[in-house]
Amino acid sequence: MKIFISADMEGVTGVAHRDQLVPEGRTYERARHLMTADINAVITGALRVEPAAEFIVGDGHGVMRNILIEELHEAAQLLVGPCHPDNKPLCMVQGVERGCGVAFFTGYHSRAGTPGGLLAHTWSGAAVTNIRVNGEIVGEAALNAAIIGHWDVPVALVSGANELEAEANATIPEGFVFVGLKQSYGFNAALCLPP
Ligand SMILES: [Zn+2]
Repeated sequence: MKIFISADMEGVTGVAHRDQLVPEGRTYERARHLMTADINAVITGALRVEPAAEFIVGDGHGVMRNILIEELHEAAQLLVGPCHPDNKPLCMVQGVERGCGVAFFTGYHSRAGTPGGLLAHTWSGAAVTNIRVNGEIVGEAALNAAIIGHWDVPVALVSGANELEAEANATIPEGFVFVGLKQSYGFNAALCLPP
């Protein structure tokens, strides 16, 4: 089976501040290792039950050149590069169209305005207050779940900070596992599991 992994960075364990999320941040390089390690952990776990699985990883955060391919599990291929209508119109879930059976959303975060939500936002904190689909306010997890639904690909796993679980349960079709990696203390603090 081919498994698609849409990887964001805000929900990665050890990440709690914008300095870790942007290339100009002093702690960004360390956060790239943490992000890659979280993805490798998911791949290692999946291979225990599906030894022949292959993985397509979509780097879905910011500049979309965050994941360290030299450290990425050898069962995976990595889709690198920013969202653009000409080459990555599916943005965070580009790659799902390559015959994938299920999708994992790793390092995801809660939607804009989530009370106490760690690094909570929807697409762009500076530009977007809310996005509604059919009148319902949704976050990136639900938006991306809807997009991959076009290929009949279900979400099988979501990882991130604890408050994302309720949002995922309310807005993504059931059948996925939520993996909580950190307990939020607010927008910029969290109690984190070790990598
Ligand atoms: Zn992000």
